Amino acid sequence: MALIVQKYGGTSVGDAERIKNVARRVSESRKQGHQIVVVVSAMSGVTDELISLAKKITSDPPEREMDVLLATGEQMAIALTAMALHAIGMPAVSLTGAQAGIVTDGVHTKAKIKNITPKETHRLLDAGNVVIVAGFQGQTPGGHITTLGRGGSDLTAIALAAALKADLCQIYTDVDGVYTADPNVVPGARRLNKVSYEEMLELASLGAKVLQSRSVEFAAKYGVPVVVKSTFAEGSGTLVTKEDRDMEQVVVSGVTGDRNQAKVTFVGVPDKPGIAARIFGAIGAANILVDMIIQNVSQGDLTDLSFTIPRADLPKAVDLANRIAKDIGAKSVEVKDQIAKVSLVGVGMRSHSGVAARMFETLSREGINIMMISTSEIKISCVIEEKSMDPALRALHKAFGLEKG
Ligand code: ADP
Ligand code: ASP
Ligand code: MG
Repeated sequence: MALIVQKYGGTSVGDAERIKNVARRVSESRKQGHQIVVVVSAMSGVTDELISLAKKITSDPPEREMDVLLATGEQMAIALTAMALHAIGMPAVSLTGAQAGIVTDGVHTKAKIKNITPKETHRLLDAGNVVIVAGFQGQTPGGHITTLGRGGSDLTAIALAAALKADLCQIYTDVDGVYTADPNVVPGARRLNKVSYEEMLELASLGAKVLQSRSVEFAAKYGVPVVVKSTFAEGSGTLVTKEDRDMEQVVVSGVTGDRNQAKVTFVGVPDKPGIAARIFGAIGAANILVDMIIQNVSQGDLTDLSFTIPRADLPKAVDLANRIAKDIGAKSVEVKDQIAKVSLVGVGMRSHSGVAARMFETLSREGINIMMISTSEIKISCVIEEKSMDPALRALHKAFGLEKG
């Protein structure tokens, strides 16, 4: 008998019929003798609808209240899933994140899990129940509801699997595994049988939303074996696991794109010690994650400094940047939000040269201008115009021989 955590995403529980389908799948696994914890997301579209509803009330809703609101999406889904299991004679109990013992810090809308006390879940499992836990949510030690950032149900599932010492975490979604590129954008994308934690972490943080990046970080840290599979079809899916020999043979494992990008430039910044520290100190203190940074060669005593951030943080960043600009005597602040980042990922890049050159050539052949570049051991990213993102992904996927067959 194994303990398995199964996570079903928004599309998988998208309507009543689909919830019944999930219940049937869960029940089959249970009947094979396994203990099953199910993590569900809100039904597809619900989280987005709640966000747009809040924005109709006020353009700047308090983040604490956003969490109270957004957590209702998953609460609805756990109750319906438990009912569907009852209806086919399978004992099941639904738990909110708080009831499942998930404790987070107090950073509303992007809280981090601090610890999980799985006592109640174990008790319910031992009594023969399927336990259904609301994804994406937790509570602070003081009892305030928090959420874990978009896509956060993946993190709930993987963190619960670690806390419960589960044998396996299965992520059921609307594709049958992790592909060499988003199969909905690149028609020739190929399913990977396995992918290393490290590559999956890069793919996820660079835009492949099939797994939330923080969930992959967690899986790697605690060595949780994760399998990504389809809710709607049979198949072995993709195993996310420790790197092995075969993986190094492949130079590029996948390409991915991210539209969630914006660029802020300080124009005419005094080129002297302490300026970058002042700028990025203030941006960091506002909980805005800076990605790429470029400082130009100075002209006279002035320089330009650009950086990229998540697009959602742009209003907050612009306000802050204007205040900092006054403070440090910069001439102006320029903003560009129609940008995207395309990236190549592969552990084989460590031992192969020429990947960057081929990437730049490919983009140039497509007439795509590169605004910023960044590299690490196992990835290369370029910032380009947003409208060129999909053609860039298709061209890169082909140029690096990732297609089927
Ligand atoms: P869920 O609602 O189940 O959490 P998501 O929409 O968050 O599902 O993630 C699944 C989606 O991720 C797929 O429909 C696909 O479009 C997208 N995706 C992006 N990159 C990849 C990739 N490399 N492999 C598989 N799917 C990907
Ligand atoms: N419902 C949340 C979202 O849409 C969490 C999730 O689906 O993982 O982001
Ligand atoms: Mg998701």
